[in-house]
Amino acid sequence: MSADDPAAAVAALFASEGAAEYFGEPVTQAEHMLQAAALAERDHAARSLVAAALLHDVGHFASALTGDDLMRGTDNRHEEHGAAWLGRWFGEEVTEPIRLHVPAKRYLCTVEPGYAASLSPASIYSLGVQGGPMQRAELAEFEANWYAAAAIRLRRWDDMAKDPGVQVPGFDHYAATLLTLAR
Ligand code: FE
Repeated sequence: MSADDPAAAVAALFASEGAAEYFGEPVTQAEHMLQAAALAERDHAARSLVAAALLHDVGHFASALTGDDLMRGTDNRHEEHGAAWLGRWFGEEVTEPIRLHVPAKRYLCTVEPGYAASLSPASIYSLGVQGGPMQRAELAEFEANWYAAAAIRLRRWDDMAKDPGVQVPGFDHYAATLLTLAR
């Protein structure tokens, strides 16, 4: 895997580990991330946020703990691992929405009536491992983050990107965007 070509590095992950089951969801990891990116494009998100949607769960591939550990009750903090791993290539406009996509779920569970009930069973299970709905004291800190709104948008695409019946562009569709964004 090339350390200086993010498109090649990530493409390899999508092709190998990405083909794996996405813990209890009806799509693979790669399908899930490609669907999230397609939803971001549909909503005319900035290039950096489309990239964030595409890459948001890459921490499930790169981290030492696996997603199976997450589903056994140990939080693998995939949002932190993914953001840190991607930081070798991408700036915070890509990595911060990724790092905040789990806090965004915890935030929405507290502030938005009906949000928690809309989550998939696997996502509701992982919520408990990830700290549960935010406490009141945590809300202001999350809202003060420059990337909070971007993280919430990413979160909504994440939640929708689990449709086994949908066809979306493949990884190649985004390779040029990744190379443009990489420093
Ligand atoms: Fe996800």
